[in-house]
Amino acid sequence: MQTAEVVIIGGGIVGSSIAYHLTAAGCKDILVIERETAQGKGSTGKSMGGVRAQFSTPVNIQMSLYSIPFYASFDEQLGYPADYRPQGYLFCATNEKQLAYLRTNYNKQVEMGLKNVRLVSADEIRSLFPQLRADDIIGGSFCSTDGFVDPYSAMIGFMSWATDHGATLWKHTQVTTIRCDKRGLSEVETTRGPVSTRKVVNAAGPWAAEVASMAGVDLPVEPLRRMLVPTEPFDQFPHTAPMIIDMSNGFHFRPESLGFLLAWNDPEETPGFKSDFEASFIEKILTRAADRVPIFENLAVNPKRAWAGLYEMTPDHHPILGEVASVPGFFLANGFSGHGVMHAPATGKILSDLILTGKTNLVDASLLNVARFAEGRMIEETAVL
Ligand SMILES: Cc1cc2nc3c(=O)[nH]c(=O)nc-3n(C[C@H](O)[C@H](O)[C@H](O)COP(=O)(O)OP(=O)(O)OC[C@H]3O[C@@H](n4cnc5c(N)ncnc54)[C@H](O)[C@@H]3O)c2cc1C
Repeated sequence: MQTAEVVIIGGGIVGSSIAYHLTAAGCKDILVIERETAQGKGSTGKSMGGVRAQFSTPVNIQMSLYSIPFYASFDEQLGYPADYRPQGYLFCATNEKQLAYLRTNYNKQVEMGLKNVRLVSADEIRSLFPQLRADDIIGGSFCSTDGFVDPYSAMIGFMSWATDHGATLWKHTQVTTIRCDKRGLSEVETTRGPVSTRKVVNAAGPWAAEVASMAGVDLPVEPLRRMLVPTEPFDQFPHTAPMIIDMSNGFHFRPESLGFLLAWNDPEETPGFKSDFEASFIEKILTRAADRVPIFENLAVNPKRAWAGLYEMTPDHHPILGEVASVPGFFLANGFSGHGVMHAPATGKILSDLILTGKTNLVDASLLNVARFAEGRMIEETAVL
């Protein structure tokens, strides 16, 4: 029978980063199992690729403080491109409550060691981007090391490095059953046959709850559709711009290729495995785009190029990481609530530490375990886009 020291279920960016970090730490006997014929068909291939450290909770800030420098040196360290572009994130506040919120977050971020974040005045925002309608903007915050990566390239880079150094990737193979004996986890059943192992990582993205249930674990991770609209080439707004967030309604956009990528979290969206792009979303988002950037009235959009993907949401918008106490050997790396690309490097490091040594210095891992829901220890993140 096939054996592996660690089996990782899911070959998206999270499973790939865990495979990289385990391999880099010296663990050679790793098997990644991916259901699709190619990597990237889950959330990773649908992502907007934003990376930021401007969060409100210490644990999310800590994860970014590891992940963003990691992306900055990715190409050099791994020999594969991640296409990190430090163009920043600019949050624009339109009322005092939002501004106070940004100030509180800024103080926390600086206290935790984030160097390039600063509060910006309304006048500075106006002079940087005169194209914005700024009559209601009263200030904001900007971090120059925030920016974008290419999620697909980063995922392939992580996995290629891992397989170059001894890890194995099975594509077109689905995990169907997880078996336990009295010592804990013992075997996974796949469409390619059984694999004997004592350690399994659930990195199944939006399908994580289904995989967890195979091990008898109730995982509060729900899929939630998100739609993105790329525009046709547009040169009346600078392509050096950061991700710009209109805090009045959550509309945000960033340069992408010769055009822009538009995003907005539709509050009417409901959980479920919905992956179709809905044409009516285009008008909703273009209305918000032209409201904040009047020249965006001239944007051209080809609906056929727009797409939808799934966020993997948890009740407190924080990931669920670490071993399940009731199933020794079963590890979770799930529920990134829209931040799985930016936090993939930290997740890989945390999981590798926990699997190989049982502890990690990167974060207080006990904050993120699945037991927090049953024990009422949720850690609400409000800076969710
Ligand atoms: C529109 C959109 C925009 C986003 N924007 C951002 C952003 O700007 N920044 C950011 O950080 N994050 C963003 N995200 C979130 C981010 O994309 C995800 O958090 C991240 O990709 C999750 O990676 P993953 O590897 O956990 O999941 P996935 O990429 O979904 O990978 C999971 C894999 O598991 C496989 N799998 C599932 N079940 C099985 C099984 N039984 N057997 C074998 N394989 C299985 C699937 O086929 C899949 O390939 C966005 C997401 C969407 C949808």
